[in-house]
Amino acid sequence: MQLHWHRRDLRGSDNRALTAASEAAEADSDGSVVALFVFDPGVLKHAGSPRVSYLLESLAELRQWYRERGGELLVRRGDPEIVVPEMAEAIKADRVVWNRDYSGLARKRDARVRTALNDIGISRASFHDAICHEPGSITTNQGEPYSVFTYFGRKWHDRHKDAPYPAPDADVLADAERLAVEAGDLPTLAELGFDEPEADLLAAGTEASRRRLEAFCEDGVYRYDDDRDYPTRKSTSRLSADLKYGTVGIREVYWKTESAREDATEAEVEQIEEFQSQLAWREFYTHVLWFTPEVVSENYKEYENEIGWEQDEDLLEAWKDGRTGYPIVDAGMRQLRTEGFMHNRVRMIVASFLTKDLLIDWREGYDWFRKKLVDHDTANDNGGWQWAASTGTDAQPYFRIFNPMTQGERYDPNAEYIKKYVEELAETDPEVIHNWHEASLTQRRNAAPEYPDPIVDHSKRREKALAMFEAARGE
Ligand SMILES: Cc1cc2nc3c(=O)[nH]c(=O)nc-3n(C[C@H](O)[C@H](O)[C@H](O)COP(=O)(O)OP(=O)(O)OC[C@H]3O[C@@H](n4cnc5c(N)ncnc54)[C@H](O)[C@@H]3O)c2cc1C
Repeated sequence: MQLHWHRRDLRGSDNRALTAASEAAEADSDGSVVALFVFDPGVLKHAGSPRVSYLLESLAELRQWYRERGGELLVRRGDPEIVVPEMAEAIKADRVVWNRDYSGLARKRDARVRTALNDIGISRASFHDAICHEPGSITTNQGEPYSVFTYFGRKWHDRHKDAPYPAPDADVLADAERLAVEAGDLPTLAELGFDEPEADLLAAGTEASRRRLEAFCEDGVYRYDDDRDYPTRKSTSRLSADLKYGTVGIREVYWKTESAREDATEAEVEQIEEFQSQLAWREFYTHVLWFTPEVVSENYKEYENEIGWEQDEDLLEAWKDGRTGYPIVDAGMRQLRTEGFMHNRVRMIVASFLTKDLLIDWREGYDWFRKKLVDHDTANDNGGWQWAASTGTDAQPYFRIFNPMTQGERYDPNAEYIKKYVEELAETDPEVIHNWHEASLTQRRNAAPEYPDPIVDHSKRREKALAMFEAARGE
């Protein structure tokens, strides 16, 4: 009997460890595979309700997927170090398999599970699955991990990529009855200690992920590079939560976009490759996390002196609530609350605003995103924040500070995105919106009486941010 422990791979096909388990079961005359998911309090304590909600919906679909094929997904709650060996013993497993996770927390947990399985003499195997190229497989010529993306990205594009792994045959799946263990109920959000998310989320699970991939490969992928920075153009894939939870396999995504090349013009091929470069960024940040797990709480880049971040609860709360008086920032922060998602360009703008206008530590922003984003992914979220804060690998130079007004004007010229999320500005002229910081108090009151005045003066804060970084650099 093979026990497949699902974690961030909530799907039946293109799942490397599951395929390995089913191959091993097929090779054994009496072999079969059963699946397990464990709600780990150690992981849940870092989660927010949008993510847990996405997780539960995906698990319900996955359980259905197994049951339709005569198999079962067992569900338990507790510390995996105890639960996984217990379940392995209860079902008399010959081997436990799983796909690797890359954060420091997950690796420590997995090491404990490995030891616990060793102690009871049950073998186990883990596989690289969530990314196309595992950490250590793309390095400098000296064998060092890359700290800048460009060369990493080139090598990533040039490397052979595996085809999607096949789903297990139904006849190899074991149902819970045969195992003489309870399948276990899927808990509710409330039972796990979470409120219903205030955000209206996209549908979760493999079917929904595939629909998104399909739709993207018919349209957005062909104009991806031209349109990806404009939040209203809907040219991005919206696959981030799917990739985070593995409701779709990375090889399936990659090869689907490769097949879009067949109908593409030369110019469109470049758009497809730009999309694939984002998949490479995802892998780059995963490698960074693997080799430097401490980045979750520490700056990747060393400065001579501590960066003099300021603590100001009122400014932080205004940023979280989308009440900064900078329309593009507020629209992004409100999209986060209402959808559990934010467009990439706007993530960059709000992260720059927090760190370089409000001078607040990137860790505050990272914590808020971790709670509110449905797609929070330790590697990508951390990479994004440290990039914006100029503390990361291959980060934005400290002196390049986004101007939130010109960013808004450039990427949302008609203020459609802003108006969608900031209802106080729904009737306001885009020109007034993009010049909100320069308008007089009377003009602002006349144009949109409910919308806040700017909480800081961008030009002054920019100077302060430069001084803060120069002091950190010892200048
Ligand atoms: C401050 C900040 C925080 C972020 N936090 C997260 C996060 O928690 N989870 C997350 O998946 N992405 C994060 N990103 C990256 C990016 O914003 C999202 O991946 C993207 O907006 C998701 O939308 P999409 O699926 O339509 O992306 P697409 O543009 O369609 O990209 C496809 C996939 O590539 C990956 N990707 C895209 N851009 C990046 C990037 N810059 N870095 C790494 N991977 C990328 C994602 O998996 C994404 O789903 C963050 C960026 C910033 C600036």
